[in-house]
Amino acid sequence: MPESFPWEIVGVQDMPAAADAEVFVGERRWNVQRPQVLVVCCSDGRLQECMDEFLQERMGVHHYDRFYAPGGPGALAISGYEFLRAEQYRDDCAFLLRAHGVQDLILIFHGPAPDGPEEAVCAHYRRILPHATPEQIRAQQAQDMEEVLTYLKILRLPVRVHGFRAEVLPSRQVRFAPLTEDQ
Ligand SMILES: [Zn+2]
Repeated sequence: MPESFPWEIVGVQDMPAAADAEVFVGERRWNVQRPQVLVVCCSDGRLQECMDEFLQERMGVHHYDRFYAPGGPGALAISGYEFLRAEQYRDDCAFLLRAHGVQDLILIFHGPAPDGPEEAVCAHYRRILPHATPEQIRAQQAQDMEEVLTYLKILRLPVRVHGFRAEVLPSRQVRFAPLTEDQ
C-alpha cells in the first residue's frame, strides 16, 4: 500500500497497458441456473465468511443472489429515517424477487450478542441511531424486521421469508438467531 494511501489515486496512465497485461480467465464456469434464493445482508465484510458458512452448513444454500447494502434488511425499513433510501431499496428488492423468480428470501441483520463486542454494531444503525445502545439497536432491528415482513406481504409474491440476526459472541463466533417463525 503506498504511504500516502488512501489519498493517492492511481491514474489510468499508471496501469499496465492492456496488451501487456496478463488477462485473468477463471477456472470456474458461469452458472446458467438462477439460484431462486436471494440473500439480503449488510455489506460489512467482517461478517461475510461467517455468513457463507451459515448459508452453506445450516441452510444448504451454495448458489444465491446477493443484495448487500449497508444495514442489510434494515435498508428496506423506513423506521422514521431515510424514507427515500428505503423506497429505492424496496423497489430494487421487489425487482429482484420478480425478475429472478426468487422462492426463498433470506434476511440477515447483524450486531453484537447481548454480551458481545460493541464494535460489532452495524454501522448503518450506528449512523441512524448515533446515541442508541446495542440493546436499543437490537430492538430497532426487531421492529424493522416486522416492518419489512409487512411490506413483503403487500407484494403478494410466492416467496418464503427466513429472517435472522447474526450476533457476534464474546468468542467472535457468530450465532444466527431466527427472527421469523418458520425457523
Ligand atoms: Zn452492517
